[in-house]
Amino acid sequence: MRTVIIGAGASGLAAAITLKRECPPMDVVLLEKLDALGKKLLATGNGRCNLTNTSIDVSAYHGDSSTVYHVLNAFGAEECLDFFHSLGLLTLEEEGRVYPLSMNAATVRNLLLEEVSRLGVEVRTDFPVGALEPGFTITNKAGTETLTADFVLLALGGKADAVHGTDGDGYPLLKKLGIRYAPISPALTALLTDPKVKPLKGLRFRGSAGLFREDGTLLGREEGEFQFTANGLSGIPAFQLSGDAAVFTKQEALTALLDFCPNLPDIALFQYLQDRMYAGNPEEPVLHLLTGVLQEKLARFLLEDKGLSPETPVHRLGTQDLADLAGFLKNWPLPVTGTKSFKDAQVTRGGVPAEELVEGSLESKRCPGLWFSGELLNVDGACGGFNLHFAWGSGILAAKEIIKRAAHQ
Ligand SMILES: Cc1cc2nc3c(=O)[nH]c(=O)nc-3n(C[C@H](O)[C@H](O)[C@H](O)COP(=O)(O)OP(=O)(O)OC[C@H]3O[C@@H](n4cnc5c(N)ncnc54)[C@H](O)[C@@H]3O)c2cc1C
Repeated sequence: MRTVIIGAGASGLAAAITLKRECPPMDVVLLEKLDALGKKLLATGNGRCNLTNTSIDVSAYHGDSSTVYHVLNAFGAEECLDFFHSLGLLTLEEEGRVYPLSMNAATVRNLLLEEVSRLGVEVRTDFPVGALEPGFTITNKAGTETLTADFVLLALGGKADAVHGTDGDGYPLLKKLGIRYAPISPALTALLTDPKVKPLKGLRFRGSAGLFREDGTLLGREEGEFQFTANGLSGIPAFQLSGDAAVFTKQEALTALLDFCPNLPDIALFQYLQDRMYAGNPEEPVLHLLTGVLQEKLARFLLEDKGLSPETPVHRLGTQDLADLAGFLKNWPLPVTGTKSFKDAQVTRGGVPAEELVEGSLESKRCPGLWFSGELLNVDGACGGFNLHFAWGSGILAAKEIIKRAAHQ
């Protein structure tokens, strides 16, 4: 029996290892389009590879919750750590995020590659798959080489981060097989906003942002460290909002309401500003009221955006003006026009939906013997190790399902 795995990223590598470990007679072939296996892993977690999260939970994912449940039931945080410890990886945890002890993504990749090699998985690099016929025959893009297989695992990722081999090759293969997929868009990337933020480029702040539709529906709220870019907002909380932003800005304008003082209720901020005003000199510029709240550059920018000169003497402000200012700092409206493209995204939203899967399995309904794993499925996770966790878990689960099937044939 032969299983061909198309794509040697996180899920393909985990699947190959599981197949060979748990079913040594299985002929396992790993096809990779690039000249080496697992290249994207080196870029993950800023080169540190945040490989899982100890608070793994279905709520950290977007897409088909039945698919997420299926994978997480079989492969939780403990199973993930067991898998990596079985490879010899020492790990450390930072607020739930799990990294290799070496804090170096190459450690994770090297251990996976050593295990693939030790187990005798047949590896073919520089093999970009261009065609897949049921039955199965697999042909490279040049049409010069064809392989056959009893089972196939499509582990070739999504469309995000093409530089690491994932430029959406999977979708034409799905189309050709008549397999539908949920529309794809970039996720975990920077937000594009009103270009008025350009002067703030590079400035970081801690705050929160709620992302709102035109009708006032809240799509999501995130808190943490943001960074202004030349044309938008970056940082983990902005990334977390980008999946929804990419989908909804195709149809309508969105607004992010930024709160620069998330730990202070409106009334407390108002009180603070009022106390500062009464304690100071009436001729002091309004800018000074914000000295203890915001970086000066940001304070100036926001006052001007509100139509208030930063040099306005505080005695010119009434109680209502201060209340308005407090409200403005807690709900600064920033139009969101879109997100960065797939090129700059960490993951793909959309993909093979639960309806295309055999119930309780990662196997294709339409094309028996074909399995899916990782980012090609209609699941994407939050920052924090959730996407890699799903990739390892779905690869391992698909491998186990293939072994079960092989045992019954
Ligand atoms: C910069 C960056 C940082 C990230 N950091 C983290 C992190 O720290 N933690 C986390 O949880 N997630 C992180 N992610 C997301 C995570 O890396 C992915 O979700 C995960 O790698 C998806 O695994 P996969 O196996 O589905 O696909 P991939 O890992 O993308 O692998 C797919 C493989 O298939 C190959 N391939 C594609 N087309 C073909 C073809 N036609 N023929 C043969 N092979 C093909 C590709 O070359 C690639 O090697 C990050 C992503 C990026 C881009």
